[in-house]
Amino acid sequence: MATPRIVILGAGYGGLMAATTLMRTLEDGEADVWLINKHDYHYMTTHLHEPAAGTAADEKVRVPLRDVLDFERVHFRQGTVKRFDPAGRIVELEDGETIPFDYLVVALGSEPETFGIEGLREHAFAIRSLNSVRVIREHIEYMFSLYRARGEDPAYTTIVVGGAGFTGIEFVTELAERLPRLARAYDVPEEAVRLVSIEAAPTILPGFDPSLVAYAEAKLREKGIEVHTNTPIKACTPEGVVLQGDREIRAKTVVWTGGVRGNRIVEASGLEVIRGRVKVDPYLRAPGYDHIFVVGDSAVVFGEDGRPYPPTAQIAVQEGRAAALNLAAILRGTPMQPFKPNIQGTLASLGRWEGIGIVGKRRFYGLIASLLKRGSDLRYLWQLGGMPIVLKKIRYFFA
Ligand code: FAD
Ligand code: NAD
Repeated sequence: MATPRIVILGAGYGGLMAATTLMRTLEDGEADVWLINKHDYHYMTTHLHEPAAGTAADEKVRVPLRDVLDFERVHFRQGTVKRFDPAGRIVELEDGETIPFDYLVVALGSEPETFGIEGLREHAFAIRSLNSVRVIREHIEYMFSLYRARGEDPAYTTIVVGGAGFTGIEFVTELAERLPRLARAYDVPEEAVRLVSIEAAPTILPGFDPSLVAYAEAKLREKGIEVHTNTPIKACTPEGVVLQGDREIRAKTVVWTGGVRGNRIVEASGLEVIRGRVKVDPYLRAPGYDHIFVVGDSAVVFGEDGRPYPPTAQIAVQEGRAAALNLAAILRGTPMQPFKPNIQGTLASLGRWEGIGIVGKRRFYGLIASLLKRGSDLRYLWQLGGMPIVLKKIRYFFA
């Protein structure tokens, strides 16, 4: 009998954890494991706001796949997935190649949810990948360089960040630390620089612990960020944003952090989705397809309270590992285990040395929260590639 082939789509938190787990769990000849990803590196999405703001090097977030995978045990194919055929068991790449599979792990992450808001796709930036954040960083710098050349128009030095969930908050606080340096470098007077955080809900970080929200909001204001809550963005234009009530903010840089939905390839391939995410069965399989596992932001898992878990790296990693172990169980004819998330808490940065978070039932503020977050990042790197990768990256986490 031919060796079964497992193909993993995406080398983010979920896909890479599935690949490393299979690499360590399967014996030679049990399965042929393939990983397909756009890039030959993994990027730590959870830190993309830092190179986006220009406060950290790209190297902090980039992990070359060869540093964590043994390419003799996992065949890596760099390429962009166009679609997959769940019943025909074929993956189609943009370059025309087709790759057959017996089992599939879909881990293609998410994409910005624009809710049909006019002009957002065309005129706003999004924090999505290493390539996308390089463009944000360079664009902001270029706009600062144009400030004087364009008649000292403050639109060039105004940055609007739409959506004050965790991504928006982590990005604005990081950027607030860089802007004074940029202003000095480009001879822009401080008063011409505006950093504006706009949130539709009555508070920033809606639904999060109220005392941590209050702390975060005070920090934002302390850092000179303008915070507008209860203020939905209605449209985005080349000149800035239009708010409800037709008020406009002129800004040459608009970054949209208003939420995410699952990668469109998943529904285009015929899997049933809710906001682009597959409601998986207890073993993380797509309904109706026992040979297809879906993990990370491409999947949605509901808790006992009937509410979906938010799409986070924490859950993506756990799902990637659980899907890999269930695949090993299928190959060995042993029972699969239902997926049980173990949510340890939430930690978010508010700039370089500040943060907020809840771990278990305890709240953390300031430096301690920031240090705990660094600890959890290093733990993740350790899970991926052990001490060598931790030693390679640790200096970026304490720079
Ligand atoms: P991803 O990690 O996004 O990986 C998807 C992979 O698929 C990528 O490698 C991508 O290149 C690849 N891919 C996509 N399309 C294709 C294609 N067509 N062909 C080939 N490859 C493709 N969560 C937390 O738990 N803690 C945090 O602190 C945190 N901070 C965050 C900060 C920011 C700025 C952002 C944006 C998100 C943050 N999140 C955080 C959420 C977290 O990053 C995501 O939930 C997590 O990345 C999901 O993992 P994933 O494996 O599903 O997708
Ligand atoms: P989100 O959905 O959590 O937040 C988006 C925000 O945009 C919401 O507050 C929403 O009210 C607001 N918004 C939506 N439409 C708007 C409009 N028209 N005008 C103004 N505001 C609008 O999205 P996110 O922050 O990108 O986070 C995505 C996922 O990643 C979440 O699950 C989050 O928990 C996770 N994440 C976690 C961390 C962390 O744990 N440190 C960091 C970043 C992201």
